[in-house]
This record gives sequence, C-alpha cells and structure tokens, in this order.
Amino acid sequence: MHFCLQNWKKLFFVNRIPFFSPPLFLWVGGGGKGKKNALFLIIFLEDRAKSCKNNFFKKRIVDRPKSVSEFQSVCLWSVPGAGPSSWHQSFPVAKDGSRQSPVDIRNEETERDPTLQPLVLKYDPRSSKTIANNGHSIQVDFDDTTDQSVLKGGPVTGSYRLRQFHFHWGSCDGRGSEHLVDGASFAAELHLVHWNSEKYADVANAAIEPDGLAVVGVFLKIGAANPALQKLLDAFDSVQKENTKADFKNFDPSTLLPPCLDFWTYLGSLTTPPLLESVIWHVLKEPITVSSGQMEQFRSLKFTANKPMQDNFRPPQPLKGRKVRRNF
Ligand SMILES: [Zn+2]
Repeated sequence: MHFCLQNWKKLFFVNRIPFFSPPLFLWVGGGGKGKKNALFLIIFLEDRAKSCKNNFFKKRIVDRPKSVSEFQSVCLWSVPGAGPSSWHQSFPVAKDGSRQSPVDIRNEETERDPTLQPLVLKYDPRSSKTIANNGHSIQVDFDDTTDQSVLKGGPVTGSYRLRQFHFHWGSCDGRGSEHLVDGASFAAELHLVHWNSEKYADVANAAIEPDGLAVVGVFLKIGAANPALQKLLDAFDSVQKENTKADFKNFDPSTLLPPCLDFWTYLGSLTTPPLLESVIWHVLKEPITVSSGQMEQFRSLKFTANKPMQDNFRPPQPLKGRKVRRNF
C-alpha cells in the first residue's frame, strides 16, 4: 500500500524515535518522587548527549532523505536505480524489519482462526472527496474527520476510519498485485486504507503505531468489465499526469468489494517508503473482475516524465515467522 507521508516533520519524528524512547521511558518511570525524577532527568539528558555522538543516530541523519522531493523520488518506480530493490538504502527497515509487506500467502500454511469476527465495512458515499495521480498510483481520498466510513470486526478492536484507496498494477495482465496467493499474481490490487481513530488523533499519528492502520486488499482478476470500476476509470482523463487532482464526489467504495468478505489477516507494513510496520492486513479471498481494456486505462496514467504508470508493486517479503490467519 502507499502511504508517502506528506508531513515531512512527521517522518523526522519517526526517525528520531529510537533516539528518544529508552530514556524517555526511564524519565516517565520516575513517578511522583522528586529525587527520583531529577535522577531520571539526568539519565535522560546524559543519554541524549551520548546519543548525539552515537553512530547510529548520525547514520540516521545521513540516511534520511534531505528533502520532500528526494523522499518522493524514492517512492517512484520510474526512475532508473529507484524502486523496491533500492529502498533499503534510505529505509533500512525494508530489509531489517520483522513485519514487512506484501507477502506470498501460502493457503496450506495459513491457520483457520474461529475467533476472528466477520469483517464489517460501512462506507458512506458522501465521504469521497477527490481523485489524484500522486506520481506512483491513482488515489481517492475521503473525509475522515468523523466516523462516516469505517472498518470494524475481523482481527481488530474498535473502529478504523477510511482515509483513502489506491491501486497497484502491472505492465501486462499477468502481474500487478502486491500480495500473491500460492505464488500467483493478479492483474492488480486495490488497497483501502483505514486508521485507528479510537486510539490516535489522526492518520499520521496512527501510521507510526503497531495497531495504527487497517488495510483491506482486494485482488483484481481478468474477466468481465467491471461497471463499478468504470465510474472510477472515467475520471482518469482529468488526472493523467503526475500531481494532478480532481473532485470525485459521491463514490461508494463498497461497490468495489466482492460479495464475500472472507479474508486472510497478518501483521505487516506499508508497501512503499517509509515502510512503517503499522498495518493490520486484511486480504480478501475473493477477487473482483477487471477487463483487459480496463487495465489498459490504468496503464494510460503517467508517472514522472510522462512514462506510463505500471509495475508500481513491491514484490513479496519474507514472513520471518509470522502466521497468516484466515476466517474461512
Ligand atoms: Zn498500496
């Protein structure tokens, strides 16, 4: 899924977390006793001073992209030398992380979990706002100031608000999805991105927490033309080029869902930089259909420098001991 953070200060904060967290924990642990508090404050300040000399912290500063545009270029697939195989250079979590996404779902190796609740997706068409070509995908944004459109149930506790949806696709019909099922790709994959509005203030704060985001992945399989998708494709004319946006009101995202909401679930990450490990994934078992002609309309969109937008997917990542559960 995409979540290129627009707020650069937020990303800076994310990179500083390893620097602040341990001493801050000690400081908070001082409780109400004045002497203890003072002692822990000293530990905090000393630790902070040490950290300034720490190679790890220096490396973080060096590794951190210098500007928003540099960061965004890391997100792109169209620039030679960029793309998923190079992301670890700026975002070490790409290789070092323990819960990276997407993954190849080997159904025989998944575990049926009868305690999983049915997935409930309640969407209000009045919450759709705009459609945008952000240079790496096509994205529809939603008003997430109230609980108009929410995800509940499945493996999550509480309610998650819909923020946006976007797609990943290939340069041909035989590839394009991010998740695989038993090694097989689909032509495309839809990601509906929700954030935990019961615990966090906004999507940026949620995106740095292990239970912050809930993303629903829907596979697009070649077949009959999909009329619900066509409403979206008809809006592509106004967002052919990078960094273009148009109004996109009164769209019901539930028209893009299959009749059956059975799912696989596992703990994962964003699939584009900054690759934050904050996503509870719900990958639907049943695909929706898309025709070859409709896929061509996706490929008519443009990356940077007028290149056709295609192959904007990340390959599967190692499970590293994670268990994928299913509700069916
Ligand atoms: Zn995505």
